[in-house]
Amino acid sequence: MDRGGAEGSSSWGGGDPAAAATPSRYESQKRRDWNTFGQFLRNMRPAVGVAQCNSSHVLDFMRYLDQFGKTKVHSQGCTFYGQPEPPAPCTCPLRQAWGSLDALVGRLRAAYEENGGSPESNPFASSSIRMYLREVKECQSKARGIPYNKKKKKPGAPARNHDDESNSSSSSSSSIPFS
Ligand SMILES: [Zn+2]
Repeated sequence: MDRGGAEGSSSWGGGDPAAAATPSRYESQKRRDWNTFGQFLRNMRPAVGVAQCNSSHVLDFMRYLDQFGKTKVHSQGCTFYGQPEPPAPCTCPLRQAWGSLDALVGRLRAAYEENGGSPESNPFASSSIRMYLREVKECQSKARGIPYNKKKKKPGAPARNHDDESNSSSSSSSSIPFS
């Protein structure tokens, strides 16, 4: 967390040789997410400052991001509801995968506090966000036929569908290499 206060908003990726050419993937992703969120708030009518944002803005933001999602989430009326690998295309919407949203919220929660927000008022840590994520998780696991089961992972089993899951669960236990 303590980055020495030398973080210029315009200079990253540029001048500082000590900070290596590339910030960690997590750090740059976090910065991108934070900028996107700030942009989203500024585009609201009326515009909202980051200091005024609350959990409902965060929920709006996550719903807004769904339009850029790449995860097919079948509606209950779809023939492929509950099928992990449908044999044919369908018209169900694409959404942000639960694992992506979960990781996103983790990064923004950290970014909020790094940008001066207090932990007590952190909208990303609010219970409504947790509830929303839990609903998304349940809904998507049913619709896609993919159980998001954190506990057991068979050793040696191919880890395909569990990739995003393990990413996001490690983000909350924060094994992040801060430099
Ligand atoms: Zn479908």
